Amino acid sequence: MSSGNTSTAKIETAPATGAPLGAPSAHLFRTFARVDLAFERGEGAWLEGSDGRRYLDFGAGIAVNALGHAHPHLVAALQEQAAKVWHVSNLYRIPDGERLADRLTAASFADRVFFTNSGAEALEAAIKTARHYQFAEGRPERFRIITFEGAFHGRTLATIAAGGQEKYLEGFGPKVEGFDQVPYGDLAAAEKAIGPETAAILVEPIQGEGGIRPAPAGFLKGLRALCEKHGLLLVYDEVQCGMGRTGKLFGYEWSGVAPDVLATAKGIGGGFPLGACLATDAAAASMTPGTHGTTFGGNPLAMAVGNAVLDVVLAPGFLDEVVDTGLLLKQRLASVVDSHPRVFELVRGEGLMLGLKCKPPAGEVMAALRTEGLLTVAAGDNVVRLLPPLTVRGGEVAEAIERMEAAALHIEAALDAAARPESGS
Ligand code: PLP
Repeated sequence: MSSGNTSTAKIETAPATGAPLGAPSAHLFRTFARVDLAFERGEGAWLEGSDGRRYLDFGAGIAVNALGHAHPHLVAALQEQAAKVWHVSNLYRIPDGERLADRLTAASFADRVFFTNSGAEALEAAIKTARHYQFAEGRPERFRIITFEGAFHGRTLATIAAGGQEKYLEGFGPKVEGFDQVPYGDLAAAEKAIGPETAAILVEPIQGEGGIRPAPAGFLKGLRALCEKHGLLLVYDEVQCGMGRTGKLFGYEWSGVAPDVLATAKGIGGGFPLGACLATDAAAASMTPGTHGTTFGGNPLAMAVGNAVLDVVLAPGFLDEVVDTGLLLKQRLASVVDSHPRVFELVRGEGLMLGLKCKPPAGEVMAALRTEGLLTVAAGDNVVRLLPPLTVRGGEVAEAIERMEAAALHIEAALDAAARPESGS
């Protein structure tokens, strides 16, 4: 095919990156409290900082870089697709999207998939699917959804209402109607909240932002039973805990309790913006042309990368290694907790989705870890999250633990210094 792109030589590229970092631009929204650090390149679980240091990345872009940085299979897939076609609209067939949907449904409870660009959009699709199911079943009055305290479902108007956290709702006008929140793990409260307008129950099998809080034993089973009894749909938010993070493709598999609808994102694109709403045939039956849509969701670039991620995650033995490495990390973290009771309280989580509940503010612990070259992510309930790439190996776990020990010693020294009476007084 002859190329129409003959004028590229005349296009000048504006200078973009390069150390040292200057003062931060005054032209971005001030929505993020950013650390004064950038990264030029990465490999596996490692990132090179603009300060010239190498960082061990146990945050993975908040559980996004499932295969680490610059994974050769993903780089090749993206480059190959970039030279063919980046984007065509959903007005046409997208064969790689069909292939990815076939593979995701073959590996899960689902029969149908709607692709999105983010987690919040996957949740929006899930919420709309649940409401529309009830509408199409002749129960249009059922639109309310039961959600749980500590949940995080995204930052759109509907998903901040679903998450129910005042700090995210304040100042943005009336809360979107239709979300009723009850304590996480409380089956009796969930049942009590069910009324004639209830359409569904939405739950994270492991709360992420809420502080790596796994659902208590029997909770998902209990919710499933409530859904059966009252004609509701069970919707899982696996944006963070899905796509191999817990050692199963989806976190719900540990409980054996399948949902009707599931939203996922983050790891599914390995760093390319991609999300998906998965549903059973029955739940998705009324989502016909015109009911929902997206311009970018499921475009050829995203689908090429999504398939490449799945090639690796579904390869024989991959998820078993996630389980093994997760157990190793959890054991090592448990001994760090034992040795530093003034810094850490406990470790919890599943697979490579682990949280350390801290005694000093989690933000301070995270900063001390970063000083030691270990990147983590803070969460609710005063927890520091450890979400390394799923490809992390034992040597890197050992390295992370060494850095964590060093950070804990520094925090303890600072606590001692603060407790010491001032000299000369
Ligand atoms: N749901 C959960 C469980 C999440 O952890 C997140 C993001 O952290 C979201 C939804 C929202 O995803 P996104 O930020 O891609 O919109």
